[in-house]
Amino acid sequence: MNPLIVFWVPAILRTLIVVCGALVVGYFWGILWCAIAVGSGLAVLIGLQLHYLYRLSIWLDKPDSSKLPDGWGAWTEIFSRLYRMRREDEKNQAELSEWLARFRQAMTLLPDGVVIMDDVLFLEWCNPVAEQHLGLSLSKDKNMRVTNLIRSPEFMDYVILGRFDKPLTVTHRDRKLILHIIKFENRRQILVTHDITESERIDMMRRDFIANASHELRTPLTVINGFLEINAMQPDLDSKIRAGHIKLMTEQGQRMQGLVEDMLTLTRLESVDFPVRPERVNMTQLLESVVSEMHGLSVGKHELIFINEGPDVMGSFDELRSAFGNLVSNAVRYTPVGGTITISWTNSDAGPKFMVKDSGIGISSEHISRLTERFYRVDKSRSRETQGTGLGLAIVKHVALRHKAQLTIESTSGVGSAFSIQFPMPVSIA
Ligand code: ADP
Repeated sequence: MNPLIVFWVPAILRTLIVVCGALVVGYFWGILWCAIAVGSGLAVLIGLQLHYLYRLSIWLDKPDSSKLPDGWGAWTEIFSRLYRMRREDEKNQAELSEWLARFRQAMTLLPDGVVIMDDVLFLEWCNPVAEQHLGLSLSKDKNMRVTNLIRSPEFMDYVILGRFDKPLTVTHRDRKLILHIIKFENRRQILVTHDITESERIDMMRRDFIANASHELRTPLTVINGFLEINAMQPDLDSKIRAGHIKLMTEQGQRMQGLVEDMLTLTRLESVDFPVRPERVNMTQLLESVVSEMHGLSVGKHELIFINEGPDVMGSFDELRSAFGNLVSNAVRYTPVGGTITISWTNSDAGPKFMVKDSGIGISSEHISRLTERFYRVDKSRSRETQGTGLGLAIVKHVALRHKAQLTIESTSGVGSAFSIQFPMPVSIA
């Protein structure tokens, strides 16, 4: 409403009423009483204004606990407007707190760390991921300078040089982090942290794998190329020597083929696009095929024992055949003539277990934890001599993982080894 009507018109009207009343009094009782009437009327009006001003100041001191009076005249409008403003303010504040709570929750769920700092890098707020990445504690470190908390020379340089257009990659507390400072508002900055430890590890594994695979393939290729060159330069080479060369080249070709096949198997096992399609695996059939392979490889050089007491399982026949075959072929390759190899398929409260035990050369303890790494070999020359690719145990580990089974390696150098795959209980169906 127009303030002229709300405030001035009633005030002028009230003053006119007082003046008119006083004039009436003056007309009957004389000028003195007229002056007294004007004075008292104005005093009452001023007193009322002061009273409402006083109530207003009390309410302004404690708007939550005290109450505004209904008011009189223009005060009614003033008080109702103040009430409305206060109600709107309360509503806005409730909305703001709700929004802030949602924002904080979203920040907590972020996979990246977020640190809010003022213009001179004093910590104002950070999410739990940032606490983890940078070793901060919001409750303890609030209002501390971030450069005193993140003690990294690279980070100090980054802050001092102030080249925040590019992120910084640092190693901090055994993690590889990407840090990026972004200025916002006039006097605030955000530090975003992104952990790349895992992706770096995978990248390194990939680079190592490519380097190792190339190295593995280069050796047989060099041998084949060498023989081909000799044969090209000496066309009238003795046929016996030539046959010897062809035999060696065939062996190297087979080695390359084995390597490529193992690499393809590993790639398929690691691929999320190829989950195990569980089928009932006829274990007797699978184990008999493994044992017959073992006889073929051992050609009577070892004492072979076979125990089959376990149930059928749900899983992939081909994958389990490949894993068991790898363990058996290793046992034959790393057990000297006259040694004993035992294959057992048993069942217990923990679930079915496949075990290959040999009395072979064994493995010293420092190697055991690394055996399932690709291309890791204890004795490189022995592995190559026996057509090993260095990928067998990596394949076994992946097959076990895909069947929720656990590969355990126990070995003593010079005494022998036991490789077992413990399947979980629900897998068994027999
Ligand atoms: P490889 O093709 O070289 O045998 P694996 O991944 O199958 O590759 O095995 C990795 C390494 O583990 C082998 O090079 C060998 O040193 C060791 N190893 C595996 N099985 C046995 C075993 N039964 N006895 C002794 N050493 C073994």
